[in-house]
Formats: sequence, C-alpha cells, structure tokens
Amino acid sequence: MIELKNVSKWYGPVQVLNECSATINKGEVVVVCGPSGSGKSTLIKTINALEPFQKGEITVDGVKLHDPSTNLPKLRSRVGMVFQHFELFPHLSVTDNLTIAQIKVLGRSTDDAKKRGLKMLERVGLIAHKDKFPGQLSGGQQQRVAIARALSMDPIVMLFDEPTSALDPEMVGEVLDVMVGLANEGMTMMCVTHEMGFARKVSNRVIFMDVGGKILEDCSKDDFFNNPDARQSRTKDFLNKIL
Ligand code: ADP
Ligand code: MG
Repeated sequence: MIELKNVSKWYGPVQVLNECSATINKGEVVVVCGPSGSGKSTLIKTINALEPFQKGEITVDGVKLHDPSTNLPKLRSRVGMVFQHFELFPHLSVTDNLTIAQIKVLGRSTDDAKKRGLKMLERVGLIAHKDKFPGQLSGGQQQRVAIARALSMDPIVMLFDEPTSALDPEMVGEVLDVMVGLANEGMTMMCVTHEMGFARKVSNRVIFMDVGGKILEDCSKDDFFNNPDARQSRTKDFLNKIL
C-alpha cells in the first residue's frame, strides 16, 4: 500500500529525512515512534504529499508521488490524515465539517455526503452531537469527529500524527478505542504515537526514528517489545524513558 525507497528531505540546508525506506502492506498497522524532532511528522506529511521531498521514491497504492505527472490532490483525497490538533473548521457544525470535503473534493451530493458523514459519526459514538460546533465538544470528542471526517472520504489508508498527545489524559482512551476498532477492521494505518499500549494491542510493526531523520529500526511488534537483543541500544534507551 505504501512504499518508501531511500527518501531524503531537506529544509534548506537541514536534512530532516535521511534515506528512509519502509513498506506498509494492505491491512497493516505500523506505529512510528522516536524523539521529538526526528522527522516523524515530516515523514507522515510526505506520504500524504503535503510536503515535497528531494530524493527517493514514494508509492501509495500504485501512485508514484515522485512522478511530476501525478495528480496529488486526487491522491490526498484518498489518504486520511488525523493531526494532533484536530483542525476542524470552528465555524462549521459537526455535520458540515463531515460533509464539506466530500462535496467539494469528491463531488458527492449533499444528501450522499450527509448520509456517509453521519454513518461515520455514529461509528465514533457521537451522533447525538451532529448539530453542535467544535468548540462545544471536548478535545476527545473533537478528535473523534476528525477521525469520522477522514473516514467519510473512504480512505485507502489512514495516517495519524500524535492523535492523542494534545488531549487530557482521561480522553486518550476514547480516541484510542476508535483507532483500535479501525485496526481490527483491517484498515491500513500508519500512526505516529507514543501510546505503547496501542502499539502492543494492534500494531504489526514498530518503526523507530532517530534525530537526523533516520529510520533506525523497523521491526515486528514482538521483537520490538519482547526481544531486547533484536533492538538497537538507542531504541532501548528511548523505550526505557517512555514506558
Ligand atoms: P517530529 O514530528 O519527529 O517531532 P518533525 O518532522 O516535526 O519531527 O521535524 C523534523 C525536523 O524538521 C525538526 O528539526 C524540525 O525543526 C524541522 N522542521 C519541521 N518543519 C519545518 C519547517 N516547516 N521548516 C524548517 N524546518 C522544519
Ligand atoms: Mg511531530
């Protein structure tokens, strides 16, 4: 579903991704972790073509991002993205937040968009809030709306960038529950998160990034958590700090 081959990226003179390679198969859940500034957000954004990269190749569902003739907006519409800070439209109701991109980007009718959006809202357990505005919801509820909004676009893959790290602790669980549900239904997911309970429960692999934008490790969940001998000492240090 996603293939990165020797992807490098610079901001001016600063290299932020260094020869990153990884493959994410259909239905896999891959957790990306690592210290602040190691390029996790940048990596996720390049996969959604929100950030250009200077070297290497990225292919998403057969579409080559490095090919200048690729229709990037079309690809973006099929890749669901959930950010740390929800990024809902504050002046639109929950329902309008769910439908606007379906109508404007996918060309769906208002009725179809509403039907799909409300179905996804129901799935994240928030149908009772359909006429509210984002500011009337808790952070956890807003993030669940953001997930429902991404799902309304019928994504082929979902990318999450620290979806729970801006939340009060008591709201983390409700968002993770939605993500676990998605994973169990077979959604292909790439999740930047330090929620190791989530990684243990549903991930297939864990990628560890280190400063300088390098993928230091890409290993099975079992090796990552249970087989210290299979891991680099940098990863062990990091895990010791966060677990
Ligand atoms: P992470 O998500 O792992 O914390 P980021 O991908 O946000 O890391 O950042 C990686 C590096 O790129 C950092 O050194 C950061 O300062 C730098 N960076 C991120 N965005 C920009 C930008 N728009 N312009 C310049 N440097 C940036
Ligand atoms: Mg980040």
